Amino acid sequence: MIKGLKAREVLDSRGNPTVEVSLLTDKGEFTASVPSGASTGKHEAKELRDGSERYIGKGVLRAVENVNKKIAPLIVGKEVDPHEIDKIMIDADGTEDKSNLGANAILGVSMCAFRAEAIRERVPLFRYLSLQFDIKESIPIPCFNVINGGAHGRGGVSFQEFMIVPQEESFTENLRYATEFYHRLKDKILDVVEYGANSVNIGDEGGFVPEAQSAEDVLSLITSVDNKCSLIIDVAASEFFQEDSYIVDRKSLNKEELIAFYKKLIKLAPIMGFEDPLEEDDFVGWSKLKSELGDLLVIGDDLLTTNVKRMEKAKENDSCSGVILKMNQIGSVSEAIRAAKKAKDFGWKIVASHRSGETNDDFLADFAVGIGADYIKSGAPARGERVAKYNRLLKIEEAMYEY
Ligand code: PEP
Ligand code: MG
Repeated sequence: MIKGLKAREVLDSRGNPTVEVSLLTDKGEFTASVPSGASTGKHEAKELRDGSERYIGKGVLRAVENVNKKIAPLIVGKEVDPHEIDKIMIDADGTEDKSNLGANAILGVSMCAFRAEAIRERVPLFRYLSLQFDIKESIPIPCFNVINGGAHGRGGVSFQEFMIVPQEESFTENLRYATEFYHRLKDKILDVVEYGANSVNIGDEGGFVPEAQSAEDVLSLITSVDNKCSLIIDVAASEFFQEDSYIVDRKSLNKEELIAFYKKLIKLAPIMGFEDPLEEDDFVGWSKLKSELGDLLVIGDDLLTTNVKRMEKAKENDSCSGVILKMNQIGSVSEAIRAAKKAKDFGWKIVASHRSGETNDDFLADFAVGIGADYIKSGAPARGERVAKYNRLLKIEEAMYEY
C-alpha cells in the first residue's frame, strides 16, 4: 500500500536541477531520480522546466509540484501496481508528449513504483522487470564513450560520441578493458604535443575532449591505443543539420556526401555501427543509408525517441537495425519496456542508454538486464554518475545466477 509520495529538486551531473521522487510503502522508502538530455530529439516526451529566473530557467519546481499536488492524491492509499500507476499518470496527463504533468514528474514516480514492487515480490529489480514483461534477462555489452564531441564536448569535432565496444568474455572483463583503454588513451592524447594539456579535459559523459579537429583525427587517436576494438559512433546528426546540409567539422556536406564520408571512416577503424547518422525526420534517407552501409548497425535515437509509433514508421521504411532506449524519452518505465518488446519483435538490436545529464541512480543497469538489451551505453568508465550503472552491472553479473 502506498503511504506517501514526495518529490524534490536535486542537482544532476551538469549542475542542473532535476526531479527526485520518494515513494513510501509498508515495505519502506523507494527513491529514484530522473536524467536529462542535451542533444534531445524533437519528438521526445517533454520534461517540464520552470523557465523562471531561478536556476537560469532550468528549475523543475513545476514538475515537483505536479508530483506532490497532482499525482500523490491519485495514488496514495492504493496498492503498488506499477502498471496501473503508470496508466493513472498517463491518463491524468492526457497529452501525447506528457507536457501537462511533465515526463520528468511521471518517470520519477514510475521508477519508484517498479522499485517498490520488486522489493515486495522479493526479487531484484532486473528480474522483476524481466518476469513482468516476459523477457529473457541478459547482461548487455557495454559501449564506453571515450571521446566527446558535438553538444557534449564543444570542441572541434562535430560527432558527439566515440564509443569503444569491447568483446571480452564477461561484463567484468569488458569494464576492465575499457578502463585500461581510457587511461592509455589519455596518455596518447598527452603525447600529441600540439594538443596541449587541456586536451584531456572531459565532456559531459566523461570522454576526453581533445583539441582534435576532425573525426579522422579522433579515430587515429583511438586506433593508436588498439586498432582492433570495435567502435560505435553517435553522430547525433540533427545537432548539425541546417536546412539541407550537414555541417561536419566545418565542412558543409549533403546527404550523399555524408554517407560517402561514413564509408571512408569505416576503412580507417573497426566501426561496427552509427547512431543517428542522419537527421531525425528523414526516415527514407536512413533507409538508403542502411542499404549502402551493408551489415553495419544503424541505430535510431532521435529518430525513434523510444516511441513505438516512430519505431513502426522506421520498420515500414526499413530505416534502421537498432534502437536506443531512454526511459525519459517516453516518460514511463512500462512504455519504455513496451518499446523494448517491439524492438525484439522487429529483430533490432537494443541499446539501453543513459542521458548526458545524469544522477547516481542506477535503475538503468537493471532496466538493461531486465529487458535483455544487447548493449548499454552509460558514458566513460569514469565519473560517479557514469560508473554507478557500470558498478551495478558488476554486482548483477556476480549475483545473477545466484538470486
Ligand atoms: C545521446 O544522444 O545518445 C545522448 C546520450 O545524449 P543526450 O542525453 O544529450 O541526448
Ligand atoms: Mg544519441
